[in-house]
Amino acid sequence: MILQSEREQIAAACARLLPDGLVVGTAGNLSVRSGDLLAITPSGLPYRDLRPELVCVVEVETGTMVDGPLKPASELGLHLAAVRETGAQAVVHTHSTAATAVASLDDLDALPSVHYYVAVLGGPVRIAGYARYGSPELAANVQAALVGRTGALMRNHGAVVVGDDLGSAYEKALQLEWVCDVYLQARAAGAVRVLPDDEIAGVVAQLASYGQTYRG
Ligand code: 13P
Ligand code: ZN
Repeated sequence: MILQSEREQIAAACARLLPDGLVVGTAGNLSVRSGDLLAITPSGLPYRDLRPELVCVVEVETGTMVDGPLKPASELGLHLAAVRETGAQAVVHTHSTAATAVASLDDLDALPSVHYYVAVLGGPVRIAGYARYGSPELAANVQAALVGRTGALMRNHGAVVVGDDLGSAYEKALQLEWVCDVYLQARAAGAVRVLPDDEIAGVVAQLASYGQTYRG
């Protein structure tokens, strides 16, 4: 099976999407790049039925199907635009509740920097303009929102996050959801104090050397 490891990673991550609250039903889609190819979830398949061999493989340049028995995610164009824009190796698109709620607030063009964790996404997280799901317009809007970022909210729809691998993209999707939840709770409680853009830029730089691994 081509891209076996990438397809196994996607199937394993998809098993967590519903319990982690990142999607409902068959919403959302995940992809992992390997060279000229992209492994991506099939469209509209219940996550409990997803097995590695059912994950689609397409060409990054053209989106042409290379392997897999099912149609690829409706947001294939969005995933291809995201990997081309950011150079990332993995894309996670969610419909998580707080992210979708923030993306539906009429007075916002971006998630206010209520916590330094927005730096995990490369800076203030923009809200991509609305277009119908699966459309080239939505892919273009998301691509524009991702310039210089590793995450974006999608107006009245959800969120998209990219990473160097699927594990880090998935983690960022959870962190973005957490910041959106904090923002909504703060906004409901009172006036929200927001961190300035230069502080977020400083944290982006500091995070480059954050984290440890221990091999004892
Ligand atoms: P698919 O089931 O086609 O992946 O679509 C889900 C979705 O979230 C569309 O935006
Ligand atoms: Zn969606």
